[in-house]
Amino acid sequence: MDKRDLDPTALVIVKETNTINFNEKIESMRSFARENGVPIIKDEGLVFLKNIIGLKRPMNILEIGTAIGYSALMMNSVCNSNIYTIERDEKMYNEATKNINELGVKNINIIYKDALEAFDLIKDIKFDLIFIDAAKAQYKKFFDIYTPLLNENGVVVCDNMLFHGVVVHEENYDNLTKGLRGLVRKLHAFTKELMENDKYDTTLYDIGDGISVSILK
Ligand code: SAH
Ligand code: MG
Repeated sequence: MDKRDLDPTALVIVKETNTINFNEKIESMRSFARENGVPIIKDEGLVFLKNIIGLKRPMNILEIGTAIGYSALMMNSVCNSNIYTIERDEKMYNEATKNINELGVKNINIIYKDALEAFDLIKDIKFDLIFIDAAKAQYKKFFDIYTPLLNENGVVVCDNMLFHGVVVHEENYDNLTKGLRGLVRKLHAFTKELMENDKYDTTLYDIGDGISVSILK
């Protein structure tokens, strides 16, 4: 008997995976990320994201920024959604493809393209959850391009919104390199605009690296 049958209150769907042990694979992906400086979602943020998925039960999820497929696989571990995830970096795309195939996961679709140019590939799909986690300076563009595909009451989640705490503290700006300062300014402007956008109810959470949740009214 499936364990789930015994606990009707269980939110988390523990899936069987093929070939290799899921936990071992995830652990090796975490090591890979650490060793190669891949900014995968922080533990706290991941728990939060999984909770949102458990409550929202999205049918289709769009992720912008696959990296090695870590967050996509973790999202997939708690839902039966179709996950579409976009990655522009060839090495990352290959690594994610390998990881997802090794686990025999079928419902994660990786799109190898710059997210600024991938709209046409998914324009006929409606999403219940959009997770934005790619180039921070482009968050506004990603938001503007992809939120027309959001279902009523759909949710947009953005990661790294507090960018290690520098975004909210303007007095920290002088300590940053010029490039980083520009990026932080853009992220700050996006955050402000998002908070003021009355089509959405937005809350910015001090979780992980800062996560915003915007619910389309
Ligand atoms: N979501 C992942 C981490 C993503 S890191 C996780 O938590 O496991 C950000 C990724 O976004 C990087 O791999 C980078 O190559 C990718 N990226 C950045 N800008 C992008 C763009 N415009 N289009 C597609 N991918 C992008
Ligand atoms: Mg992130």
